[in-house]
This record gives sequence, structure tokens and C-alpha cells, in this order.
Amino acid sequence: MSFAPSTTSVKLVLLGEAAVGKSSLVLRFVSNDFQENKEPTIGAAFLTQKCTVGDRTIKYEIWDTAGQERFASLAPMYYRNAQAALVVYDITKPASFIKARHWVKELHEQASKDITIALVGNKYDLVADDNDSDDSLRKVSMEEGKALAEEEGLLFFETSAKSSHNVNEVFVAIGSKIPEAK
Ligand code: GDP
Repeated sequence: MSFAPSTTSVKLVLLGEAAVGKSSLVLRFVSNDFQENKEPTIGAAFLTQKCTVGDRTIKYEIWDTAGQERFASLAPMYYRNAQAALVVYDITKPASFIKARHWVKELHEQASKDITIALVGNKYDLVADDNDSDDSLRKVSMEEGKALAEEEGLLFFETSAKSSHNVNEVFVAIGSKIPEAK
């Protein structure tokens, strides 16, 4: 006898400084596509994508910030009821890592207590080939990312929306942390 696998819906929000690649990560995950000179997202962006995690199907309902990152503080309605969040920074932009700390703090203060948060250092393709040379584009080390994640109890990945590196892995790792629907 076979059983239909259960589907769990998960509201996931994206946070992070403008141009770190939030929309590009979603485009890669949802459509397996990448655009070199993406127009900024304007207005609400809402997409869904299913993902198999073990014997379960997770249906992600993904909310992109759509330019709201320009404001000091996001409207709490944006992350109210979110079960998951991606806090994204650009590993070539230190200011975006400082901003990521800010978002993690804000989520811990304002979001649901059992939200699953992944810290994501994006644009790995820009540093993948350099061997710690002085002219490396990398400005945030993997150790710094890991340390913040450990401190705050977050999942951690370095990704590239451009090369696909670790993009699916982020969503699978989040899915495996989401409890079974009752
Ligand atoms: P958002 O404002 O955070 O949603 O950022 P976008 O997704 O609009 O991306 C901003 C710019 O960075 C665009 O020109 C993208 O093509 C580029 N970009 C996004 N992800 C990557 C990546 O992984 N590697 C590289 N090299 N560029 C990226």
C-alpha cells in the first residue's frame, strides 16, 4: 500500500540589503534561471515552489521584500506568521553583513519564536577561484558568517544564484527543520 506524501506549506520571507541577490536566489530556486542585470523588484513579490525533503513535500510561499529594505524597519506584517526566513548578505560587501546582523536581531525580537532562519552569504561565484589572495573580492570570511550563525542559532550557507551553488541546499535544510503539520 502506498501513502500520498504529506504537503506542508511554509511561509518564507527574504531579508537583506538591496542588491545582495534576494530576488536572484528566488529566481534560481523557482525557475532555475539567472539574470545578469536584474531590474529591482518593485511592489509585492510572491512566488510558490515545492521542494521534496525526505518523504515530505514542502510548499514554500516566498515573500520577497520588494524594496522595503530601504526602510529602517520592516512592517511586522511582512514576517508575521513566517515559519522561515532567509537573511541574505553579499560576501563581497561588508556593510551587507552588518545589515544581516540587524535583520537577525529584528527577527528574534519580532517574529515567531520558532521561526527557522538561514543566514546566506551570496555571490560565492565571485570568490570561488581565488586562494586568499590580497586582491580577493571576498570581504566577509566564511568563519565570520559561521560565527554569527552559531551565536544566533541559524542555518548557514554560502551560495551563488549565478552558479546555483548551494541554492537548493538552503531550502532543503530549512524544510528538514520544519515540524510535521498536525
Ligand atoms: P536584491 O535586490 O537583493 O533582490 O538583488 P537582485 O536579485 O536584484 O540582484 C542584484 C544584482 O546582483 C543583479 O545584477 C544580479 O544579477 C546580481 N547577482 C545576484 N546574485 C548573484 C550571484 O550569486 N553572483 C553574482 N555574480 N551576481 C549576482
